[in-house]
Amino acid sequence: MGFEIARNEDNNTLLTFDEIRKSDDLDNLRYKLLCPTPNCKAHLSYVASIHPYIKTRNESEHSDFCEYKKDEGAKEIIRKKAKEKILVNLGEADVYARLDDLGDDLYPNRVKKPRKKRGKKSNKTDSESGDGVQLIPGENGIDINELSSDKKRFVGPRVPKKTLTEFTAQDKGRIFKIPAKLLSIEKNSDRRYYLKIKSIEGNKKGTLILKEAFFSRNIQNINVFLDFLMNVVNEKKIEVKVAAYGTLINFENRDFEIFKDYGLRFFTENKGVIRKDSLVLFYNYYANKKFN
Ligand SMILES: [Zn+2]
Repeated sequence: MGFEIARNEDNNTLLTFDEIRKSDDLDNLRYKLLCPTPNCKAHLSYVASIHPYIKTRNESEHSDFCEYKKDEGAKEIIRKKAKEKILVNLGEADVYARLDDLGDDLYPNRVKKPRKKRGKKSNKTDSESGDGVQLIPGENGIDINELSSDKKRFVGPRVPKKTLTEFTAQDKGRIFKIPAKLLSIEKNSDRRYYLKIKSIEGNKKGTLILKEAFFSRNIQNINVFLDFLMNVVNEKKIEVKVAAYGTLINFENRDFEIFKDYGLRFFTENKGVIRKDSLVLFYNYYANKKFN
């Protein structure tokens, strides 16, 4: 996060972040840093901490022509930008466990059997921060071992939950947990499906898009399972709800791209019992069932 480069006020030379950080003269230099954009008069601050960074000095303004103008004085934006760099490394089991947790969102009116008191659930932070997480995939997905130690603390299940009624334009490009009803499925090709969804409360609609990323990593005959699901849903044989890890790619239409090949869980209810299935398990359970 922060500026990678800055200008020395004294001699107008550009210095990299590392040069500044390692400078013998850091105590002086840190008060002489200007925005790297030529002729921009904004002052920068070197923030000394375990993970130092350079930011726009409070109340210092970038010139109108400066590309950093948009960051001006906006701690909120700087904070958000830092968050955008958060890397997520969630395995299949992690994702399934968190999606299965959305049962109460999917069936809000269900009468639950009283449960024994348990320790407080620790996934509170998931829903508290509503900013979403931007994924920065590596070439072959994200390897936790590639992450520097200061980023590791961000790795993990901090994916916030939002219903279709709650999204804003700022959520674009970020990943969320989404509970919804599955209305219908459109098949565009063997490598592209559109899952039409609707909010549990209200009438906001959206689309979960299964694209190349979903198919390239998935088992080969995944289409058999998808086509079966499509038939069940489109023929309205049973009501299917869905919990998804989706990246908002179009705010106006609420289009989401599914996270990897496993960011989807399917929920069905029969006599108060809720099933939570992957695509394959859904097929295994329902393929030979008679629907009434
Ligand atoms: Zn500037």
